[in-house]
Amino acid sequence: MTTIAIIGAGFCGTTLAVHLLRRPPVTPLNVVLINRSGLLARGVAYGTRTASHVLNVPAARMGALPGEEDGFLQFARRQDPKVGGASFVARRAYGDYLESLLADAAVRAGSGVRFRAVVGDVNRILPLAGGGARILLSNGDAIGAERVVLSMGNYAPGDPPVAAGQRSFYSSPRYVANPWRPDALWVVKPEQPVLLIGTGLTMLDIALDLRERGHAAPIYALSRRGLVPQAHRDLETPPVYDEQLPRRMLAQPTARNYLRAMREAVIVHERAGRDWRDVIGAVRAVTPQLWQALPLRERQRFLRHVRPYWETHRHRCAPALGRRLQAEIDSGALALIAGRITGYDESVEALHVRFRRRGGKAEEALAVGTVINCTGPDNDTRKLRDPLIGGLREDGLLRVDRLGLGFEIDEHYALLDHDGRATPWLHYVGPFLKYRDWEATAVPELRRHVAALAAVLHRELGGAREAIAGFAS
Ligand SMILES: Cc1cc2nc3c(=O)[nH]c(=O)nc-3n(C[C@H](O)[C@H](O)[C@H](O)COP(=O)(O)OP(=O)(O)OC[C@H]3O[C@@H](n4cnc5c(N)ncnc54)[C@H](O)[C@@H]3O)c2cc1C
Repeated sequence: MTTIAIIGAGFCGTTLAVHLLRRPPVTPLNVVLINRSGLLARGVAYGTRTASHVLNVPAARMGALPGEEDGFLQFARRQDPKVGGASFVARRAYGDYLESLLADAAVRAGSGVRFRAVVGDVNRILPLAGGGARILLSNGDAIGAERVVLSMGNYAPGDPPVAAGQRSFYSSPRYVANPWRPDALWVVKPEQPVLLIGTGLTMLDIALDLRERGHAAPIYALSRRGLVPQAHRDLETPPVYDEQLPRRMLAQPTARNYLRAMREAVIVHERAGRDWRDVIGAVRAVTPQLWQALPLRERQRFLRHVRPYWETHRHRCAPALGRRLQAEIDSGALALIAGRITGYDESVEALHVRFRRRGGKAEEALAVGTVINCTGPDNDTRKLRDPLIGGLREDGLLRVDRLGLGFEIDEHYALLDHDGRATPWLHYVGPFLKYRDWEATAVPELRRHVAALAAVLHRELGGAREAIAGFAS
């Protein structure tokens, strides 16, 4: 019996299990899906219970499997007939959908396929001499597998930098390091102002969550540039894409030319009465090619100068949330600050946060009850203090990428080892693919990667040809 162990049962791990159960690459097959918590099919994104945490992709585009793009829309409509293709549905409903896909695939799996969900925290993978590995869990259990797939998802935000003498700030009860912990907001007192560090989608999630919990005091949100997520446009009018834009960008693969070409396209588009968002849409399908065409130095330039603008324009929020954010800003309930924190002083009553505004010289201060780290996922494997990643690094099984975006992974989703060789039994799928493809964040991209990895497993483990043909590559 061949065992495929999948580490992490969020979107990627769950949907990979669905592919394998529906069309096993080899029989007999044992699929073991290991997740830190007993909540399968949720991950960070779809485990939330907060009503205002809605998907940032319309329902019609959230199908989890290629070929069943409207799968989520159908599911959501069965729960609520008012849901349309352009609706932005609650993220918890998406978790329900993933869970139902998995349960259905497990029930219908053929007799040669076994499925087992294991609740456990994987902290070490020990390679075996003949290939495959022993997977060690923190409770002392071990699981043997011929193939291992890593799908651990996003890591919690890294701590914001502080001056050398200020490291005690990190252990202050007034500092929330991980905003995604279920108990993260329990320490916040509704009558005290809060500072959110970061102004992206995580900030928006937390600000809305605070308001839903009755937080009445001011919210401050600070980042270097103070850029907030743009909202999706009205989706009733179909997009119009400039098909020649990718060609103009690729003609000179530099960060500067990419930016210039996109800016020019936006001007032309808006003059014609169209929406700038269609310019981003025009490069969505070719983003990996655009990224891979950039030499390393240009990728570094892109990350330094363009990334904050790319993130806020490419990863947009639902229109209703955009309006709520704007209303908070307009009323002064949420104050946006573009600046840099210079220090923290703690008293019995409050945390006093010193900062300088962007372009300003004077130091200002805010007194807040809590500071919440909303800087977004930290996927810099050079710095992550995770035993699983640390062990892979120590054993030379992982090649940390030079841009701090993830791992080095080959075209077959195999991890490259320290010497740049693929480890054939060790695969990865998830947001660390950013180093290879740049965009590997949202479901429309990830579902293609998961299907492509399923196809690789088919090919390598000897699956029937007709089965392989059904997968994206
Ligand atoms: C807050 C948030 C909201 C998002 N909203 C959207 C959205 O609306 N639309 C969209 O398309 N994308 C959204 N995304 C993007 C999101 O990254 C993807 O949609 C997708 O959920 C990523 O799936 P994943 O399987 O890689 O990671 P996850 O879904 O996070 O799953 C990883 C799983 O691995 C487990 N795990 C980690 N380490 C271990 C270990 N050592 N041992 C055992 N288990 C482990 C975790 O507990 C978790 O269950 C959002 C992301 C975030 C963070």
